[in-house]
Formats: sequence, C-alpha cells, structure tokens
Amino acid sequence: MNNSCEMPGMIPVEQALQTMLSHIGTYTSTEPVSLDLALGRVLGQDIQSLVDVPPADNSAMDGYAFAHADLADNQHLTLAGTALAGVPFVGKVEPGQCVRIMTGAIMPLCTDTVVMQENTSQQGETISFLEQPYQGNSVRRAGEDIRKDDLIVKAGSQLTPALIALIASIGVGEVTVYKKITVGIIATGDELVSPGQPLKAGQIYESNRYALFGLLHELPVKVIDYGIVKDHKPDLQHVFTQADNECDLVLSCGGVSVGDADYVKDILDDLGQINFWKVAIKPGKPFAFGQLKKAWFCGLPGNPVSSYVTFSQLVKPLICALSQFTPPTPLQIAALAGAPIRKRPGRADYQRGIYYQDDSGQFWVKPNGKQGSGIMSSIANANCYIVLPIEQSNLAMGEQVTIQPF
Ligand code: AMP
Ligand code: MG
Repeated sequence: MNNSCEMPGMIPVEQALQTMLSHIGTYTSTEPVSLDLALGRVLGQDIQSLVDVPPADNSAMDGYAFAHADLADNQHLTLAGTALAGVPFVGKVEPGQCVRIMTGAIMPLCTDTVVMQENTSQQGETISFLEQPYQGNSVRRAGEDIRKDDLIVKAGSQLTPALIALIASIGVGEVTVYKKITVGIIATGDELVSPGQPLKAGQIYESNRYALFGLLHELPVKVIDYGIVKDHKPDLQHVFTQADNECDLVLSCGGVSVGDADYVKDILDDLGQINFWKVAIKPGKPFAFGQLKKAWFCGLPGNPVSSYVTFSQLVKPLICALSQFTPPTPLQIAALAGAPIRKRPGRADYQRGIYYQDDSGQFWVKPNGKQGSGIMSSIANANCYIVLPIEQSNLAMGEQVTIQPF
C-alpha cells in the first residue's frame, strides 16, 4: 500500500477509494432471516419465483364478468351468481349470462372481460352495459406481475420495503442474508464534550458521532459506540485495541491531520498498518486507511463537514463492498450554476448546494451558504453536493456543473 511518504502530494478521491477496495476482502457468511426482519439487509441469494403472480386471471374492478363475444350480441346479460376475492364462482357461465365480481376474485370459467359497476345498471337479474369494452378489459392476467422462474431479486441487493413485499408476493417467508459487519466509532479530542453537559472554556460539543450514527443507520451494519476518547496515549491505546477486537471496521474521527495527530498515529503504528493520506477532496483532506491487528480502519478528519463528506465518498462505498452490497450508482445530474461558485483548482470540491428546477424543467443549483469544513449548517439544510472536479476553477452564474442529490 502506498503511504504518504512514498507519495507526497495528494491522492485523487477515486484513487484513494480504489486502493481501499483493492485491499479488503468481503465477508461472505450468511444467515437465514425471516422476511419481517429482513428490512435493510443484504440478500445473500438470488431469488427466483416458483409461482406466477397473480396465480390466476382475476378482476381488477368491482363489476360484472362475462364472455366478450356475448356482449357484442346483447346489450343486457343475466346475472348467474357472484365471485368474491377468495370465494370463486364455481358454476358455469352460460351464453347471455354474467357474474357479479369483486376486485381480486378469480375470473369464472368462460369469462374474459369485466365492466366496472359504475358503467352498468341493474334491473332485477338483468344487467345493462353502458360501455362497449375491449376483450380482456379490467382483467389482471395470471403471471402479469411475476412469471414462474423469473429472477426477481439479485444477491447483493439491499432489501427495501418494496423488495420485501415482492418476495412476500411469491410466498417466500425466509431469506438468506449476509451477516452484518460490526462498525465501531471513536471520537478523539480533549476539547470534546457530549451534548447535554456544560461547556468549559476551550471545549466544544461533540457532533460527528451523531452524524456518523445516522449515516450508518442506513447501512446493513451493527454499530458499537466507543464514545469520546481524550488525546491521551494509554486511553487511546485501550480503546483502539478493544475496538479492534470487537469490530470488522473501526472509524475514528479527529487526530489525523498533521500537528495534533501524533498520539493517534503512534498508536495506529503499534496496532497495525495504517497509511495517512492527503486526499484531494475538499472538505476532508486528511484521511487514514489501513488495518489494525484484525479490523479495517478509517481515520476521518475531525472537522464536522469533512468527516461527513469523507464518510459519504470513501467510507460508505467501503462498507458496501465489505458487506457485499451493490448500491445503486449515486445519481449525478447536470445543473446550471444559479450563482457564481468559488473554486480553487487542486482538490475535488463537494460543495453543499440547494438545487431546484425552473418552469422549463432545467436544474439549477446554488451553494448553500459558507462552505468551510466546520460549517455544519451548510450540509444540514442542503439537498445535494455540487461536485467540482480537481482542475475546476471559479464558475460564473449559468455555467454547467454536476450535482449529486442527497
Ligand atoms: P482534528 O482533526 O482532531 O484536528 O480536529 C479538527 C477540528 O474538528 C477541530 O476544530 C476539532 O475541535 C473538531 N472536531 C474534532 N472532532 C470532532 C467531533 N467529534 N465533533 C465535532 N467537532 C470535532
Ligand atoms: Mg483533535
């Protein structure tokens, strides 16, 4: 692995990520889980349907079912009985007859068309039709959603409410998922105090862990919180060792920039093989990656926006890869700058922006206030990243940029 001594200068984000991904293996152990507990889990098997969905032709409306050819000859049909969802009509439908049918009821034998109740009128047992339907009107065909043998969900998909419903619809009640990896979070810094406590001079409230918890919540992982650790060698040593033993991936924030990082660096050197990089990303330049004795390790910068951005651009893809989760490619949209955008060449910028569409459908984006790496409000009410490549310089209003909606 390259380290910052062998590679002075900055590493592009893509290269940092590629290096990280090329080092890790994947965790392949799986476990069965019942479908009602499967939300958010990563599927460890392809799911192929053994049945047609729906299993039989059925009505899409409350109305009357009949043979299409019959209605062409008659304006009126005689009622032969009723078909309910779950209670099929069992008799034979003779020429000139129709069956009262409810949504989801199986189409009676010899019928192929439904007219909804609102387009009919009834006098006694005689039903009159106010529309001339096409053959197959308001009928849901067997297998029109899923055909037997269709591959409906691929291994590596994260189970969403819709995918779980889809799997339920083919009658599968238990699926094989990849086991969750365990991710530990450590915040380092003498100045950090938990919210809810009084602040002394020089102290600030710890906030990065809260962002990281939230971001990890959307991923298929177990999280262990190691709290705030002082910049004190024995404490750091103790916590990093414990986290290494208990986790597959340890995340720390703070202490990886040049200057105050010495303790963290010393300890990481003792514990494993960690590389301190300057990644060409703004915000978020200092970043560390490597392996402790057992667990993988990412050292995020302490500045709140930097830690948030490096998590989304580097740590999240790493976690997905470790978890065998193939996430959808982040949406990238071309937009026009709705205000001038300041940008110095040298690093890829992930500015926090607010995008909107004008009446013609054109996307526009404006940077959301101050863009400093400590300005958490820039991200809190933004709705996208404005992704500006390394070599990009200032942009005038109206120039094209790429946005990545949150
Ligand atoms: P560091 O990377 O440790 O040099 O920290 C950079 C800046 O981020 C400093 O101003 C720290 O006070 C701040 N910082 C570090 N960790 C956190 C945290 N967990 N929550 C909020 N701010 C932090
Ligand atoms: Mg610090």
